Amino acid sequence: RAKHNGKNNYQFYDPNMNVHTVERLAYEAQLRKALENREFVVYYQPKVSVVTGKVVGAEALVRWNRPDSGLVFPSEFIGLAEESGLIGRLGMQILDMVCRDVANFRSAGKEFGRIAINLSGAQFSDDGLLRELSNVINFWEIPSSAIEFEITESMVMQNHERAIAHMDDLKAAGFTLSIDDFGTGYSSLAYLKRFPVDNLKIDRSFIMDIPADPNDTAIVKAIVAMAKTLGLKVVAEGVENAVQLQTLVTAGCDEYQGFYYSKAIPQQEFFQLL
Ligand code: C2E
Ligand code: MG
Ligand code: MG
Ligand code: MG
Repeated sequence: RAKHNGKNNYQFYDPNMNVHTVERLAYEAQLRKALENREFVVYYQPKVSVVTGKVVGAEALVRWNRPDSGLVFPSEFIGLAEESGLIGRLGMQILDMVCRDVANFRSAGKEFGRIAINLSGAQFSDDGLLRELSNVINFWEIPSSAIEFEITESMVMQNHERAIAHMDDLKAAGFTLSIDDFGTGYSSLAYLKRFPVDNLKIDRSFIMDIPADPNDTAIVKAIVAMAKTLGLKVVAEGVENAVQLQTLVTAGCDEYQGFYYSKAIPQQEFFQLL
């Protein structure tokens, strides 16, 4: 059910919203308008080397900079954008903004590693994705090696033969691929071996209860060991304290992201941090 703010009547997305409610249609119309007005912005969360403590890249995370109401987080609009078919346009705007920023970092001579972009299921399975990607990176004159894509286990498990073909295409074009939120889906190790991915991102849910839950420490160690066997680089999400980071050092994890180092920050702030 949409929440109404008495003062300015803003509505916020609730996944339980009924398909045909007035609130939902109104929210969809607002999203459409926001796309036209280009109200979406990209924030960057630094990725840090567990070994050197240096920034080695960032993940691009979208926010809706809503006039008069401030920043709206993706959990409040990505779901509806997907269900209403607006995610393609939103995804293209995000891609365009990230490539523009990457072009700026490069022309300023900044060392930024790679920037990771989250793909939605609809974008990933779209046969036109690669052509659109080529257009955007050619327009901004940036190399595909500067961009990484994060996809989730559920996206690759739906139709895995087709998913593997799409991953092969992205890899052949020079992009880096990561499995996001690893451990929350249901991909088997047998499949993981066949996926042409470079990195595995351990979901935040396995990190957040370290050190209170010793099982999580064991799970993280096992995931890192397994990923290494498969030749994958391992990134941990949601690192919030020194004990969690120390656990990653011990486990041999390669990189981490989390509030312990930095939350996602605006482009100019990330630029200064480089
Ligand atoms: P994700 O890709 O797994 O991104 C990680 C989320 O964890 C981000 O939330 C980030 O701000 C948050 N996070 C990072 N470190 C910490 C920490 O130490 N503690 C806590 N509590 N949280 C942390 P955010 O930005 O709200 O994004 C949520 C999800 O929305 C993302 O999960 C991703 O699935 C989706 N999303 C974000 N940006 C995009 C986008 O550009 N396109 C698409 N398709 N999805 C996006
Ligand atoms: Mg992600
Ligand atoms: Mg994630
Ligand atoms: Mg997540």
